[in-house]
Amino acid sequence: RERVYLQTDKLSTISELSASVSHEVRNPLTVTKGFLQLLYSNDLPDGKRRSYIDLALSELYRGEAIISDFLSLTKSNQETIPLDVVKELNYVHNIISPYALMYKVNVETSFEHDNVVVDGVASHFRQCLINIAKNGIEAMPDGGTLELNITSSNTHVFIEIKDTGIGMSPKEVAKLGTQYYTTKEKGTGLGTPLIFRIVESMNGCINIQSQKGKGTKFIVKLPTAPQVHYETA
Ligand code: ADP
Ligand code: MG
Repeated sequence: RERVYLQTDKLSTISELSASVSHEVRNPLTVTKGFLQLLYSNDLPDGKRRSYIDLALSELYRGEAIISDFLSLTKSNQETIPLDVVKELNYVHNIISPYALMYKVNVETSFEHDNVVVDGVASHFRQCLINIAKNGIEAMPDGGTLELNITSSNTHVFIEIKDTGIGMSPKEVAKLGTQYYTTKEKGTGLGTPLIFRIVESMNGCINIQSQKGKGTKFIVKLPTAPQVHYETA
């Protein structure tokens, strides 16, 4: 069992990350442009033409992946508001369902309490949970189960996202949060830096337990927002 807590030296601000994302999307675009220009040539053998198209397409997919890891950060509403954790996790469940289906992954939810509130930017919070869930699904190429659990104490909520996937060695776990660290052919290595940054901005922390060949559990611990009680007449 490996326990890892946020390492602040790896963290950059969300705006720094966004800036590097714009920069990163430029690379696949430049590469794609180059291959499309090569396709102008009349005397290209069929094999070459095909491989240029393949390369241009795979670079476009990469650009798309970079953008989707950061999608919500570009949305205008940056206001911190009270967020209903169960509602947000249900939203995330809906968003990732088609992706899970594609990977033959079964998503199970267990929400112990239904009135847990945290303060945060809705789009950031969703993006953070989506990125954790997406990694969990991608860790199960032969299918499996993704569990989404919520438990809470008086002061904190614990959001648990658990997969039955390939798992990580302690060394690999320690690399999480490093920008551009990826083991995937079409990975961006930008998902976990964003996850860490968003959780930190919400004054929370992440605990990661992983076992090679068994699976991984991310526990996001966040302080709950003070509850406002309304008297009913
Ligand atoms: P990407 O998903 O684009 O590779 P991330 O920053 O989201 O970038 O993740 C970085 C790396 O961390 C992944 O490539 C993978 O090796 C590892 N990783 C993250 N989450 C998991 C998980 N649930 N199970 C196994 N490996 C994981
Ligand atoms: Mg990822």
